[in-house]
Amino acid sequence: LVARLENYIAVLLAIKSLTAESAERERVAAASDAYRVANHEAIRLQTVFIPVIRMAIALGFAGSLVIGGVWAVRGDVAASTLVLFGMMIQRILWPMTRLGTTFDEYQRAHSSAARIFSLLDTPPRVQDAPDALALGDVRGEVAFDAVRFRYGRGNVVLDGLTLCVAPGETVGIAGPTGAGKSTLIKLLLRLYDVDGGALRIDGRDVRSVRQHDLRRQIAVVTQDVYLFHGTIRENIAYGLSADGGREPGLDEVVHAARVAHLHEFVETLPAGYETIVGERGIKLSGGQRQRLSIARAILKRAPILVLDEATSSVDTETEREIQENLARITAGCTALIVAHRLSTIRHADRILVLDEGRVVEEGRHDDLVARGGLYADLWNVQSGNVAVA
Ligand code: ADP
Repeated sequence: LVARLENYIAVLLAIKSLTAESAERERVAAASDAYRVANHEAIRLQTVFIPVIRMAIALGFAGSLVIGGVWAVRGDVAASTLVLFGMMIQRILWPMTRLGTTFDEYQRAHSSAARIFSLLDTPPRVQDAPDALALGDVRGEVAFDAVRFRYGRGNVVLDGLTLCVAPGETVGIAGPTGAGKSTLIKLLLRLYDVDGGALRIDGRDVRSVRQHDLRRQIAVVTQDVYLFHGTIRENIAYGLSADGGREPGLDEVVHAARVAHLHEFVETLPAGYETIVGERGIKLSGGQRQRLSIARAILKRAPILVLDEATSSVDTETEREIQENLARITAGCTALIVAHRLSTIRHADRILVLDEGRVVEEGRHDDLVARGGLYADLWNVQSGNVAVA
């Protein structure tokens, strides 16, 4: 019931916009009712269980008094012994009755703990190999070698995908929705292992190195930006300080914010970089969050930069600024830019077009448009040259 309610609070906007309140209210009512019935049953069992225990104790006490009384009359035990025995029995009666409730509480805790531990004990599918090696700073060569992958038992998502990105190169990844663009990034971060082929960074298979070292080499800007309750400065610095790294100076934070075009906005705030973000502070717009995420990635200065749909929630103006700044953002690192809006990757060194898990086209923007293939189709639709059928 709590999980359901928590979920509703998170998706309140969707529920209201879909005017699904009454349907959802019924679902909460059903869950609530199920909880009430279960609790009612538990209480009913309790009301039987506890009196039975008490009765057994009372009968036992009465029995021992009767038998003890007979023995005392016969002279088998001294009356004083019987009195002492009775008093001691009285002392342990209360703990005995408590035992019933304790048992009930134990059962509840046991079933809760079983659920929690079944989750906590699930081993991660991706594990460091026992002989995993450390990975220092890489040059940033990324190579997918005939990579095959599918989620669980689902359909094949990447089907013999081969691509190579040279150190320092900026490569755009385009393709229709569901082509496997985001999957590519998840594999690069080794959130999943490939089913076939290999993924190498600087010629080293990602499975042979420590995950922690691998991820330190990659800075990612995604659509959902994690912000925590703290100042803007702390949130940007998180890119560097997150895993116990050093705390960057204000000048570094400002530099990153400038490149990401967040600085102008921060300047307008009375408390500037010390403004608290989130619950009791300012709320950032989708575009501002994204800029912050870019600033964070810049600060991390990883040799490999991944921008996944990085400009999707920023306005056109910001997108243009970021585009113009892309060269500065990606300077000195290998950049993989997954884009739905093709204008973002227009100036990339090379564009790879993915379809059904394979690279179907490759080249510079102008060449691909001239070729008249899949990319040209996507481009024409997006730039408004043809109407969507
Ligand atoms: P793109 O980014 O190109 O739009 P994705 O890489 O997100 O495409 O998805 C490729 C395919 O993999 C889609 O068919 C999608 O349904 C499937 N897919 C993506 N994520 C998951 C997941 N976590 N579990 C199962 N299937 C998934």
